[in-house]
Amino acid sequence: MSFFEFNSKLKEYDSVALEKVKPIFEKIDGITEYNQQKVLSAFIKNRVSEADLGVSTGYGYGDTGRDKLEQIMADCMGAQDAIMRHSLVSGTHTLNVALFGILRPKDKVLCLTGRPYDTITGVFGIDGESDGSLADFGIEYRQIDLLSDGTPDINAIRTELTMGGYKMAYIQRSRGYSLRPSLTIQKLSELCKAVKSVSPNTVIMVDNCYGEFVEEKEPCEVGADIVAGSLIKNPGGGIAPTGGYIAGRKDLIEKCANRLTCAGVGKEVGASLGHNRELYLGLFSAPHVVGEALKTAVYSSALFEMLGYKVSPHFDEIRGDIIECIILGSKESLIAFCRGMQSGAPVDSFVVPEPWDMPGYTDKVIMAAGTFTLGASIELSADAPLRPPYAVWMQGGLNFHSAKTGVLLAVQSMINGGDLKI
Ligand SMILES: *Cc1c(COP(=O)(O)O)cnc(C)c1O
Repeated sequence: MSFFEFNSKLKEYDSVALEKVKPIFEKIDGITEYNQQKVLSAFIKNRVSEADLGVSTGYGYGDTGRDKLEQIMADCMGAQDAIMRHSLVSGTHTLNVALFGILRPKDKVLCLTGRPYDTITGVFGIDGESDGSLADFGIEYRQIDLLSDGTPDINAIRTELTMGGYKMAYIQRSRGYSLRPSLTIQKLSELCKAVKSVSPNTVIMVDNCYGEFVEEKEPCEVGADIVAGSLIKNPGGGIAPTGGYIAGRKDLIEKCANRLTCAGVGKEVGASLGHNRELYLGLFSAPHVVGEALKTAVYSSALFEMLGYKVSPHFDEIRGDIIECIILGSKESLIAFCRGMQSGAPVDSFVVPEPWDMPGYTDKVIMAAGTFTLGASIELSADAPLRPPYAVWMQGGLNFHSAKTGVLLAVQSMINGGDLKI
């Protein structure tokens, strides 16, 4: 019995793609197992008990579940301490708390990876200080543009940092929605070494969004001082309903905690309101779910390359995040892809995505996102601005089998629309 109708030629492509990615899937399984053991041992070491999954209200004093969860997150990130809260409303808010926690007026920040992710530009106040941005508080931002191959310009970074006076070096690990490669742990390690060799007191902060559990090591294990990310991406395991985390050096986490709540109070307060259980369960599942998302990306990369499209990264490249970019080449293909993927979503499968004007974007954007958690990109989803080269950025997949079906429906939709002939 078949539940979906796929072109017979597409089924052949599917089989060949699966065969091709087998050795990569084995590697992913190895990383998943390593990271699952890392997480499990942190749960055991911190003596998680049933009582920790309960509810606190009011000030949230003595919420041992919250405190242990933060220590577990620190252990998983190879850090001394962490903040992990449902009350951090998004990844951007979390990064904002960390930046404002650490930086003071007249401090200088150097971004080592070119222009940061769209929503972060407002936090720094890059395009002119907006009300409440870091620029508004007298914190100076500079960036070193990426080289033409999309990698960091280590020589320019060294030269700039040697001039001194930088409180922070800021690194974005993920490619975000650009065509540059994501930073692997190996590359991050080289970058951190370069920074510390010329400016040992500069704090290295990494935007770790989409990078958690993709490799065996995390940025703090290779020289970063602080990392931050979103719980509706990798470390929430598709279960956390909202939230963010910051992990790193104890003295820096204390500064961030003072910004999160208030000076002198820090992370001792904050009612978990019954969210502990979901945050624990999400973190526990995260390495496995990230593995499923990675398999979805790798499979899609192999499949679309066989179908004649340019993809990035290539299926057998080492990855630093869960994002796959596919150059579809035409507006029609892009729309058909997103509509097909949406038709295979567990939620809102009947919705037909339309290209739409989005605040902060110059071109119309089309998205496929039939998710249990609104905007959760650890669930199978795709975004694409309607402009050449008509690239779609896809990510997520709570389980490979279901996500693969969504990807095949995207291809089938392109075939049905006459945009792809096989
Ligand atoms: C998702 C993401 C963020 C934060 O975005 P939110 O939508 O606010 O969660 C920041 N940086 C990168 C690279 C991201 O992928």
